[in-house]
Amino acid sequence: MKKRISVPAACLILLQILLLESCSKNEGIIMTVNGPVASRDMGVCLTHEHILVDFIGADSINDQRWDDSIVTEKVLPFLKQLKTLGCQTFVECTPAFLGRDPILLRSLSDSSGLKILTNTGYYGASDNKFIPQHAYYETADQLSARWILESDSGINGTGIRPGFIKIGVAGGNLSDLHKKLVEAAARTHLKTGLTIASHTGKAIPALEQLAILEKERVAPEAFIWVHAQSEKDLSNHVKVARMGAWIGLDGVNENNIEDYLVMIKNLKGNNLLDRILLSHDAGWYRPGEENGGEFRGFTALFERLVPLLLKEGFTEKDIDQLLVTNPAEAFTISVRRL
Ligand SMILES: [Zn+2]
Repeated sequence: MKKRISVPAACLILLQILLLESCSKNEGIIMTVNGPVASRDMGVCLTHEHILVDFIGADSINDQRWDDSIVTEKVLPFLKQLKTLGCQTFVECTPAFLGRDPILLRSLSDSSGLKILTNTGYYGASDNKFIPQHAYYETADQLSARWILESDSGINGTGIRPGFIKIGVAGGNLSDLHKKLVEAAARTHLKTGLTIASHTGKAIPALEQLAILEKERVAPEAFIWVHAQSEKDLSNHVKVARMGAWIGLDGVNENNIEDYLVMIKNLKGNNLLDRILLSHDAGWYRPGEENGGEFRGFTALFERLVPLLLKEGFTEKDIDQLLVTNPAEAFTISVRRL
């Protein structure tokens, strides 16, 4: 059997609750695939990456489509390289029905030494190809109940708990189904304190989601505008950051660091450096492709973007803000209610 659980899930949860209580007496915590960790120990963090993404669709996906040992052989060297670059925490953004595999993530966390976060929630972008059937007819409260259960009891009997909520919406105005996903995420947040990271892209759906959160009495500080780099009118970054939401500039690669410099400078110039989350959206072992296809490493941010920022007058303190302070605040478990 592939997904064997070595320690009874109930014991793991009990242990995590005890850890959680001892951690949270006077400080914030994040939830990793190995249980709670003090937010101050999060260290340098990549806020939006992927180990594995399976694009087969919600109706066909199952975890027999990949072999953990083959994926590990391919991916582990990239994670070890990341560790040598000083990265300590890795936020894995692959949602359920797209290849989320908590057992694989825990194993990779153990062998790489990286702290890894996984998620709960459903991804509605890509024409709802990754939305399970029940999401069409269940209410926001019913969907939220599923996600709260994962947060409280672990994912699919593994005892591994999500560290954030991941949803995804399409690029234009929100459909009724996507509005429901946002409502479900808001209600899950109010019960669990998990931050909502939403695959969004442009400003229109970002603002519409924030309007729903306001109606649900969830503060913008609980919301990450994922892929904000797709919005070319940079005044919208400023507008949303001023509301208090997180601006995810998460597609850094070797060829676009100048664009990231412009976007980061724009926010810094408006005293909003404390609202930015950076990452590559890289990785992606793809089941079904030969040897998992082309895997993108996680180095451009450390080897190219950070040196460029320093050359352009950003201080070590600014870099620390971007890579340590902001992620710790964004992913700390706390209910942010309006
Ligand atoms: Zn992504």
